[in-house]
Amino acid sequence: EGTSEETKIIKSKENKIDVETQYKKERGDSKEHLYMVVIGHVDAGKSTLMGHLLYDLGQVNQKTMHKYEQESRKVGKQSFMYAWVLDETGEERNRGITMDVGRSQFETKSKHVTLLDAPGHKDFIPNMISGAGQADVALLVVDATRGEFETGFDFGGQTREHALLVRSLGVTQLAVAINKLDTVSWSKERFDDISQKLKVFLKQAGFREGDVTFVPCSGLTGQNLVDKPTENELLTWYNGPCLLEVIDNFRTPERPVSKPFRLSINDIFKGTGSGFCVSGRVETGSLNVGERVMVCPSRELSMVKSLYIEDLSQTVVFAGDQATVTLSGIEMQNVSIGNVLCDPQNPVQVSAKFQARIVVFNLTIPITKGFSVILHHQSLVEPAVVSKLISQLNRSTGEVVKKHPRFLSNNTSAIVEIQVSRPIALELYSDCKELGRFMLRVGGVTIAAGLITKIIL
Ligand code: GDP
Repeated sequence: EGTSEETKIIKSKENKIDVETQYKKERGDSKEHLYMVVIGHVDAGKSTLMGHLLYDLGQVNQKTMHKYEQESRKVGKQSFMYAWVLDETGEERNRGITMDVGRSQFETKSKHVTLLDAPGHKDFIPNMISGAGQADVALLVVDATRGEFETGFDFGGQTREHALLVRSLGVTQLAVAINKLDTVSWSKERFDDISQKLKVFLKQAGFREGDVTFVPCSGLTGQNLVDKPTENELLTWYNGPCLLEVIDNFRTPERPVSKPFRLSINDIFKGTGSGFCVSGRVETGSLNVGERVMVCPSRELSMVKSLYIEDLSQTVVFAGDQATVTLSGIEMQNVSIGNVLCDPQNPVQVSAKFQARIVVFNLTIPITKGFSVILHHQSLVEPAVVSKLISQLNRSTGEVVKKHPRFLSNNTSAIVEIQVSRPIALELYSDCKELGRFMLRVGGVTIAAGLITKIIL
């Protein structure tokens, strides 16, 4: 058997080289794709900043911008004109807040960036989490106005919670926009003071110093967003990169193209020809037309008839792509949103019970054994219970501080067992980050983010 095991390893090594060669050949010439989430306290200026950046990069045409300017003036909220670039519905405009994870794209010198905008209002944290779950990197926006930074950072503000949250969802690189510096006359002292406070906190939250960059800017005036500064006072003490350069300097995470194929289905629809289509992000691996795939948790097999990215036909898709797959040899009603397409030779795990490391927040009552929750795992939404409280952990070091706690309160970290109402397709976080993390919600509020540490079969 030793030899057959060896052949298997050699084969998988050959395959690995093949996929990487194929990836370089197909994608070598195009820009690297980066997914970025924007986080920070409500009113920090996130929407204004990103709206202005998109406008400066030519992503919004003059006519549309003019319309936003007029409309915003009409309702007496002209300062929101750039924020409207990211808002979509009239209702959101009337309320003067951004509600959804709006997506936008822009280009830097070396990257194609997909923006996952995060609203700052307390109620909207769930939306931010779904954005952060797909993010490679994060932009943290803080308001430098006197008193405002302190509100967002010290007194129950969201600056800390958001930063902790993205870190627990696997984001390691952070750009920090010290925004609205126009309100403090571009004071170096204010910039240094805020950066220093954040540095200490971010280090505790688990960010490495070299992975965090601080940028002085103003989303409203557009200073230091896409061009070098022109403001005299800022020029006296800053000669670093503008925000766009900082984004360009992010390292693109490795796309795990040579891992086993996994795609979590977030849409199913009837195509034009025979068969039907599913779409979703390719989490790991690659998929070629003509290959067989397994649908989990049902473990039914199917054949890939065609592949698309947006409306363009492809012969192969890779990790990181948002792809559409036409399937044949399987009934459409046997496939559901939240199912995972995978390599039949190396399928995902299927189980209704697992252990996980979770971080708890937003709780109105403590979590006790048997606590009912809604599990969000990629596009899957499924009732579940917290069936065991195994240990409570120190949030920074991960050390066990208490075994078998009777309850978990806000801002604690713990190892728990989760029992889902039926088997689902899942992976250990250590094997596949993308399928190894999840969120728990109660009554429409997200109360925990977690990583799967043990699958109980
Ligand atoms: P969000 O809640 O973080 O998305 O914040 P918004 O982008 O909606 O901005 C909140 C308020 O701050 C609005 O009134 C903006 O006009 C204002 N604002 C945003 N950026 C700046 C800035 O750089 N300077 C100044 N002075 N005001 C800003």
